[in-house]
Amino acid sequence: MTVYLIHLDAPLHHARHYVGYAEHVQRRLDHHRNGTGARILAVCNERGIGYDIVRTWDGAGKDFERKLKNCKHTARYCPVCSPRPRTYTPKER
Ligand SMILES: [Zn+2]
Repeated sequence: MTVYLIHLDAPLHHARHYVGYAEHVQRRLDHHRNGTGARILAVCNERGIGYDIVRTWDGAGKDFERKLKNCKHTARYCPVCSPRPRTYTPKER
């Protein structure tokens, strides 16, 4: 599985990122784009806020997704927000 980080072009409810988890990231992104994926991204579609996957962690587990989601500093892992994003290699438990 792959954990992916989506960066929003404009903040939505103070959120600037979305963290997800999928086997086929591109297919999942297609779902987000047509509004059948995450609710927050469906709202972005409605409001014309652009977004894209900016980073992926192949072979990452659910634990890592949760960790990144709960992390208050997701921007530190985002190559768009941080000139030198944190390198972090999640380990499968
Ligand atoms: Zn970002």
